[in-house]
Amino acid sequence: MVWNFSTEPEFQEKLDWMREFVAAEIEPMDLVFRDPGAPFDPRSPARKVMRPLQQIVQAKGLWACHLGPELGGQGYGQLHLGLMNEILGRSRFAPTVFGTQAPDTGNAEILARFGTDAQKARYLKPLLDGEIVSCFSMTEPQAGADPGEFTCAARIEGGNFVINGEKWFASHADMAEFLIVMCITDPDVAVHEGSTTIIVPRDTPGLNIIRNTAVGPKDVIGSGVHGYLRFEDCRVPLENALGVIGEGFKVAQSRLGGGRIHHAMRTVGMLNKAFDMMCERAVSRVTKGERLADKQMVQERIADSYTQITQFRLHVLYAAWLLDEDKAYTRRVRREISAVKAAMPGVLKDVVYRALHIHGSLGMSNETPLMDMWQYVPEMGIVDGPTEVHKVGVAKDVLRNVAPSPDVFPTYFVPTRRAEAEKKFAQYLGQEPAA
Ligand SMILES: Cc1cc2nc3c(=O)[nH]c(=O)nc-3n(C[C@H](O)[C@H](O)[C@H](O)COP(=O)(O)OP(=O)(O)OC[C@H]3O[C@@H](n4cnc5c(N)ncnc54)[C@H](O)[C@@H]3O)c2cc1C
Repeated sequence: MVWNFSTEPEFQEKLDWMREFVAAEIEPMDLVFRDPGAPFDPRSPARKVMRPLQQIVQAKGLWACHLGPELGGQGYGQLHLGLMNEILGRSRFAPTVFGTQAPDTGNAEILARFGTDAQKARYLKPLLDGEIVSCFSMTEPQAGADPGEFTCAARIEGGNFVINGEKWFASHADMAEFLIVMCITDPDVAVHEGSTTIIVPRDTPGLNIIRNTAVGPKDVIGSGVHGYLRFEDCRVPLENALGVIGEGFKVAQSRLGGGRIHHAMRTVGMLNKAFDMMCERAVSRVTKGERLADKQMVQERIADSYTQITQFRLHVLYAAWLLDEDKAYTRRVRREISAVKAAMPGVLKDVVYRALHIHGSLGMSNETPLMDMWQYVPEMGIVDGPTEVHKVGVAKDVLRNVAPSPDVFPTYFVPTRRAEAEKKFAQYLGQEPAA
């Protein structure tokens, strides 16, 4: 029997250690280092707190677990990573402390897969060691979900790429050592044949940050960690192409699957955290002579939340298991990852809203983590592609092998099926006692 929902005792021990470590050492950082860039920015004072914690994680053999052993990771695979990320998702700082912070994770993977030896030595090694931060820049102000609308272009001139155009919402561009930028290198063919991913060191002349953009209702325009970039005759040598010139789309696609499922895994952690708060409040608050937990409508919210979290979690772990089984990232895996990606904002919205609501005014306030979580609801529906695009992908894949009915009536049309069944069981019919 292969189906099994249990965790090996040795790995469970690691998870138990992680749970305590994250709660005691990392979650408190969320309370004091409030700057949105603090978990990632090498200039943040939080770095001084994180460094020794990262060393503890490395000594425990739990550093960069998304990577195989050849890259300094543990090679646990996506299913184990899923269980780990459920714990890391409880804190903004935990992924950085454990070396699994996006977009560095995906960037490390594509550098490992497509990078030259020189690129790996210069960028991959310090990235894996947690010494530098990176950025992946694809979205443009006029085009996000549809790469066919991209216009930021790199022309080839005298052994260089000369990049011109704008990019939008490039996370961590400001603090990154280098950016991986998707550029159109042949405008006469479709984007999946005419784009190239190019490594651009952050200090390259012509790479200008117009301003940073923040998620959420921050008053200060220009704050935040997502860069609005303008490339103005920005020159980098042709050796900076990551992968084959013209095949940038393939490079970009290969990093997105992992990124999406890692978001979903961490979302399970956030859901559990909101659920824990909801439950504690329900058994603590008394109104009209009984606990909230004793009121049926509150019980319904708890039961619905429990069910949705469990369903979502199992779907995420199933997709992670498939990814381990099917490393070629085939359609079968992509369908499941898109399905959990599309489900993620809905589950998060339902559970966080219920948790907020059960807390009343306290839930609305800045004195619980719930309003911070609320901000992630729309974010999870947009980041790495809008929900609609993923749903379309799932539906197309589901329908790919479904044949239309050969008749005007469907194949499950009861009169036809019953006639067939009557013929099949003719010798027995008429022997039934009257109902
Ligand atoms: C927190 C955060 C971090 C990000 N970090 C990065 C980063 O580091 N690098 C980077 O390159 N990008 C990044 N992005 C950008 C992200 O990839 C894009 O926001 C995303 O691809 C959607 O593009 P868009 O914002 O232009 O929305 P649009 O493409 O304009 O879509 C807007 C809306 O239009 C509708 N829509 C779009 N397409 C379809 C469709 N095919 N069918 C039906 N409806 C549709 C949907 O309702 C969708 O939400 C980040 C975004 C966020 C929120």
